[in-house]
Amino acid sequence: MCGRGQDMAFPDYCAHCGGPVVLPPTAAPLPRPTGLPGMWNHAGRLPVTPDTAWLSMGEGGTPVVPAAAAAGWCAVEHLMFKLDHLNPSGSFKDRATAVGVAQAVWQRAQAVVCASSGNAAGSTAAYAARAGLPAIVLMPEAVPPGKAAIARAHGAIVLRVRGDYSNAFRAARELAARFGWINLTTTYVNPVAVAGLKSAGYELADQLAQTPDWIVVPVGAGPLVHGIVTAYREMRNAGEAAALPRILGVQAEGCAPIADAFDRGAAEVAPWQEVRTRISAISDPLRGYPSDGSYTLRLVRETGGAMATVGDAEAGEAVDRLAHREGLLIESGAAADLVAVRALRARGTIGADETVVCMLTGHGAKTLATGAEVGGPVVADADEAVDRLRAHTAIAEGMTV
Ligand SMILES: [Zn+2]
Repeated sequence: MCGRGQDMAFPDYCAHCGGPVVLPPTAAPLPRPTGLPGMWNHAGRLPVTPDTAWLSMGEGGTPVVPAAAAAGWCAVEHLMFKLDHLNPSGSFKDRATAVGVAQAVWQRAQAVVCASSGNAAGSTAAYAARAGLPAIVLMPEAVPPGKAAIARAHGAIVLRVRGDYSNAFRAARELAARFGWINLTTTYVNPVAVAGLKSAGYELADQLAQTPDWIVVPVGAGPLVHGIVTAYREMRNAGEAAALPRILGVQAEGCAPIADAFDRGAAEVAPWQEVRTRISAISDPLRGYPSDGSYTLRLVRETGGAMATVGDAEAGEAVDRLAHREGLLIESGAAADLVAVRALRARGTIGADETVVCMLTGHGAKTLATGAEVGGPVVADADEAVDRLRAHTAIAEGMTV
């Protein structure tokens, strides 16, 4: 973050300034695509060895699709979604985890550990299982049960740490230091894993005719912002991209340390004291590592971008909107993108004719309510089904039963 180099092989934070450590960008000319599937098409630009791809379950290479219905709601002409919830474990975290677990194998680590509000837990557990490594997952006390269950289903040891995400973060960092485990927490704590997130940026450049005006990114600590911005900077320096996209970072209203600093015009992010949101994927209070947020904030500003906050209720409505009208089951932390676009369009920050790409980072299936009561009513036959249908208010206009 301060621009000074590190001699340590795998530092988690800077010995000089305490800020996040990132790998240097890949120098121009950038290595050519490999032709391998998904994110490994750009393996030459990632910190991996040629045989890393054996861990692959098909990460990256996620589709970009037009957002026809949502474009009208947001009042922007050119709105697109990158469906990163279609990664193997159902979130963008697989881009980082695949690289981080390969690092653990290469370093002959005994285990991997991570703190997670949910998505990184499932991702770490899945890739560790594939690599034959034990995974220890530390989650905040109030984690969505479905997300903890997924990590356990892969055989990970799941412990819930009293308090919010920052307490789990501290515990994971201590365990990694004490036992030499590779820390796959998806803040900036593991620069090797974080570099895997650049793949999202390379892919966007491959998939879009030109650099979009805006890329909308759900933000906890913000390593995906680093991944996308770094990829576009590398491509611009190499003459492969004409411009940098502006980043719109999205945080939960009840835990928005980076958006708060953006609004105040501050350079430093202050840790958030009390988390008041259930949008777990974008509620990182950054307590103990606020410089993660300061670094993300700097990147957002350098792109000429913005930060926005979204409330729990409106994020929930966006989940329904995407599921009902776009066919996309997306978790609230990523559906929040839509609310942010609509708000910034209304304020005039986003122009009506600008191109906007929303990163849909997490699958909604992991946070669905479960149990018999949400399965719908039981009927005996077609006649009873018709009775039920007639009583149903959600039947589309023009359809008769
Ligand atoms: Zn430093």
